[in-house]
Amino acid sequence: MATGGNSDNTRIEWIATIGGMIKHRAVVRALCDRCGADDLVNLKRLERALGSGGTLLNRHPPCKTPGCDGRILFHASPGPSTPSRPCVTVAGVTARWRRERDERDRIKALRNG
Ligand SMILES: [Zn+2]
Repeated sequence: MATGGNSDNTRIEWIATIGGMIKHRAVVRALCDRCGADDLVNLKRLERALGSGGTLLNRHPPCKTPGCDGRILFHASPGPSTPSRPCVTVAGVTARWRRERDERDRIKALRNG
């Protein structure tokens, strides 16, 4: 990825797992690129749901805004003076990009057929 250098998010404690995020008091936001929703994530609640070893890397749940079919991208920052990083891995971004391309190709094939 262009931003954040080449460091692997799976090796960075404050972004790799929910337990690591809580330990480092990371600020995590759930952003929707379609409707602009920007919500602060309740890490304690997520920990209860996913466990402290759970991760937000490459997780893109559906947006909660009524009528919005966007997907959430989580962003995390270990402190107010540190820019946030998207909670993804290079492999995850590549896989998502392939899925979206395949989806576009399917739609195109349906139109042409
Ligand atoms: Zn949305």
